[in-house]
Formats: sequence, C-alpha cells, structure tokens
Amino acid sequence: MITIIGAGPAGSYLASLLAREEDVTVFEEHDKIGFPVQCSGITTQALAEILEIKKHFLINKIKNAKIIAPNDKHIEIRLTKPNLILDRAELDKYLAERAEDEGVKFHLNHKYENCEITNRGITLKFNGEVKTFKTDVLIGADGPFSKVAKTTGLWKERKFAIGAQARINLEVDPETVEFYINQGCFGWVIPESNKTARVGVATYAQPNERFKSLLKRRQIDYKKIIGYQSGMIPVYDPNAKTQNGNVYLLGDAATHVKATTFGGIVQGLMAAEELNKAITYKKDYEKLWKKRIGGDLRIGLLIRRKLDNFTDNEYNKLVGLFSQERIKRVLETKDRDYPSKFILELLLKEPRLLRFAFI
Ligand SMILES: Cc1cc2nc3c(=O)[nH]c(=O)nc-3n(C[C@H](O)[C@H](O)[C@H](O)COP(=O)(O)OP(=O)(O)OC[C@H]3O[C@@H](n4cnc5c(N)ncnc54)[C@H](O)[C@@H]3O)c2cc1C
Repeated sequence: MITIIGAGPAGSYLASLLAREEDVTVFEEHDKIGFPVQCSGITTQALAEILEIKKHFLINKIKNAKIIAPNDKHIEIRLTKPNLILDRAELDKYLAERAEDEGVKFHLNHKYENCEITNRGITLKFNGEVKTFKTDVLIGADGPFSKVAKTTGLWKERKFAIGAQARINLEVDPETVEFYINQGCFGWVIPESNKTARVGVATYAQPNERFKSLLKRRQIDYKKIIGYQSGMIPVYDPNAKTQNGNVYLLGDAATHVKATTFGGIVQGLMAAEELNKAITYKKDYEKLWKKRIGGDLRIGLLIRRKLDNFTDNEYNKLVGLFSQERIKRVLETKDRDYPSKFILELLLKEPRLLRFAFI
C-alpha cells in the first residue's frame, strides 16, 4: 500500500504511474483538485516529452520572449519551440482523472497532520481528528511547506521566493511573453489571450511593493485585476534530503524547482518518473532524480545566486551581450529546462559572459 499526500501535478502523476503495479491512495487537503491556482502555468516543450498535451489544459502558445532590462532596452527571442501556457486547474484535474482511471483512490478534504512510523508500517493522522490510515510507503507531494517533510525529519532550513501574481484584463500580444529582469528577482507578463494576462513578480521580500512597481512600469490599471494567484516557491536545495526509509519527498516538497525561473511543473513530473522507478525496481531515489534533473537544477541555482547580486547596470550589460545575433540564436533553439546543454556553447560564443562568472 502506497500513500501520496497532495494531489498537485507531481502527486497525481506519480500515482498514475505507481498504480500499474501497486495499490495507491492520494489524500488532498482541499475539496476540489486544482484549486486554489497559485501558478503562471508556463512551461517549455519539455512537458510534451512527458505528457500528451491536451486541448482542454493548453490555453495558449508563446512564440516570442521579450527580456527587458532595467534601462528598458530589450531583446526579443523567437522561440523555435513555442512555450505552452496551461490552465493549471485543468492540468491538475486531468492528471488526477488519469490516476483514477488506473485505479487510484482519492480522498479530498483530508489534511495530513502527522504520522507514526513503526516496524509494522506507517500510521497517518488527518485533520487533527482520530481519522487514521495505515500504509507501507508515504510520499510527500504536498507542496512548498510539506507537512510530510516536517513530521518525518526531512525538513531542513529552506529558502523561499514569493510569487505575487494577478490575472488582469490587458491588451497584449498573445504570442509574446515579457520578462522584466530587475523586478524583485524578476517580473512577467504572460498572455492567456490578446485580452487577458498573468502579471506577477517573484521576489524574496516586499511582494506587494514589487508587484505595484511592475504595474506602474507597465502602465497597468489596478482596476483591471480579475483575481490574485500568489504563492510560495521553494528555492532548490541540493542538500535537501528526499528519502528517509519508506518516506519520500517529491516536487515542491523536495525543492524540485528551477531557481532561474522558479518553474517546477516539469521538474516535479520528471522526479515522479524517477520515484516510480525507484519504488518499482528498488533503486536509490536520490541518485535517480539527481542524475535526471540534479545537474540542471544546480546550474540554475548558481545562476540565480549570481543574478541575485547583480546591480541594474550589470543587468543592462547582460541584456546588451545577449542581444548579439549569435547569442540569441542559442537561446532561441534551446529549452531553459536544460541549461547544462547550452551554457558551454554560450560561453564559447561570447567569452565576455565569463565576466559574469555564471559557472
Ligand atoms: C505565483 C507562482 C507562479 C508559478 N509559475 C510557474 C510557471 O509558470 N511554471 C512552472 O513550471 N511552475 C510555476 N510555479 C511553480 C509550480 O506551481 C510548482 O512548482 C508546482 O505546482 C509543484 O507541483 P507539486 O505537485 O509539487 O506541488 P503543488 O502544486 O503545490 O501541490 C501540492 C498539493 O498538496 C496539497 N497539500 C498541501 N499540504 C497538504 C496536507 N497537509 N494534506 C493534504 N494535502 C496537502 C495542496 O493542496 C496541493 O494540492 C509557480 C509558483 C507560484 C507560486
């Protein structure tokens, strides 16, 4: 018997894979899968290597990325492989339905509180009541503040960014995503269509001030806000422990998030595939996920640490270097999920990038 806490993308996807061989149950604290939405829902085509992209959760495709420096100069990159804009609630529902089709049992309105681990198995406690449940394997796919990690000795000090985002009625080019690279960590305008966009900032502090400042800079009227979708984003920790006996962590709960762009959907799904292999073939989970995504997550973290200390002037110079055609061509053809595949090429094409000492 395997129990997964959290019906986000990582938890439900893993459930569907494990259910082919095992008896799997998922507990989710909310009464509805996919809500509340706390995500901008942009991914690269790396998602299509894992899942068939269905019309009902794909709402837009992005062909251009505009990267805007503090001095308002910008570069525009034509993405040879368009980015995908997802309806996150629909993606979560789709993954849960797929798992249900494989025989997974879902219990909504069940908030995991604690567990007791003995030689005879793991007893789980929910909602602070005497609702208990026995399992052999426990998986925490329960997001950035993982209660599973906290109650099983897997929680170490973690760093978080805050993602402050709103959906806004805004006239935009529906094929172009905008990134403002000094806005906190960075800001974004992600079009759902030519009339609606997801606008937000990721920052370590002062999310409201940073968000207001982006709206002002982009001349967006506050009254056009439709609703907020903010949340916390764990910064990847290469030393985080993700396994303790028969307890495993996955996705945001394991800090499987790119520190460059704070995207974690694809990384959580990839780690789910590795955890499925680890449980099915009795392999070392940490070795497997580190082999698949650890190198790229580590490069992303080094880049993030460097960017966090940049002055506006350095950002301006960086955008200047990236505006050269030979550099843009590299960015246009490569997925940002795999920086290890192009960072060397970038440095060889523009040795002055070494001054920024990314690696
Ligand atoms: C504002 C914002 C924008 C983002 N934009 C992007 C983006 O554009 N692209 C991208 O790839 N990533 C983005 N991310 C990150 C992305 O949302 C996460 O990496 C992704 O959701 C992680 O999936 P997960 O399944 O690990 O966790 P989650 O999606 O957080 O799912 C965890 C689930 O566990 C449940 N849960 C939590 N605690 C308990 C408990 N005690 N008991 C029972 N259930 C529990 C939760 O209700 C939730 O359903 C963004 C994040 C934020 C905050």
